[in-house]
Amino acid sequence: MARRPEADATRSGAPAPLRIFCDFDGTIAVKDVGNELFTRYGDRDYWRHLVKCWHRGEIDGRQLWQRQCERSRLTPQELDAFAQSQELDPWFPSFYQFCRQRALPLYVVSDGMDAYIRRILERHQITEVLLRCNHLRVEPDGRLSVVFPYYEQSCGRCANCKGSHIRRERRSGETTLYVGDGLSDLCAVGAADILLAKKQLRTYCEDKGVGYIAYENFAHVQAVVERVLAGQAETED
Ligand SMILES: [Mg+2]
Ligand SMILES: [Zn+2]
Repeated sequence: MARRPEADATRSGAPAPLRIFCDFDGTIAVKDVGNELFTRYGDRDYWRHLVKCWHRGEIDGRQLWQRQCERSRLTPQELDAFAQSQELDPWFPSFYQFCRQRALPLYVVSDGMDAYIRRILERHQITEVLLRCNHLRVEPDGRLSVVFPYYEQSCGRCANCKGSHIRRERRSGETTLYVGDGLSDLCAVGAADILLAKKQLRTYCEDKGVGYIAYENFAHVQAVVERVLAGQAETED
């Protein structure tokens, strides 16, 4: 069974000054960990084919993951060793502490899998984020299955739609901020008040004429958050 989402104590009190949502793969983690994992432990050519089909809109996120899991084998021991080798943005752990000290709700919203995200975050003593992602079950014999506790039918593209989390979690009077890097973040564009973008997400924003703030790492993200908290909000670069 998927774990129940962590309760966000701030939701029952006063509005937070800022509610922060971060992508994981390529944003908090240096690499696209899901892509690395399924390239290494799955059918590499089939995986690349599936990703292209997803980019073209021929399959949705659930089909992408289900089909690849059927062709992958990964034992819990292999997953542990793999997670050990994955690096975080070097400024993310201090950003996490920064948010905790100020009681800013910090969500990790990912169209990837809890099995690797939790292992990687816990290795860095990051245990109190609000994780919203898909659930990967890893059997002792290496068989994989995936369930989608947050699937949102109205999206049609994502297995775990980031835009729907932002709309659901925000409270009136709050500002929302999203940090992302790629094509799994498109539904967050337009849902968050402030968008921080790098890599493919930045290119997308440029092409579409969407306002965003450029960043390269979580030191930059923290500087933006500090400016927002100081009342010097900005929404475009
Ligand atoms: Mg990403
Ligand atoms: Zn979506």
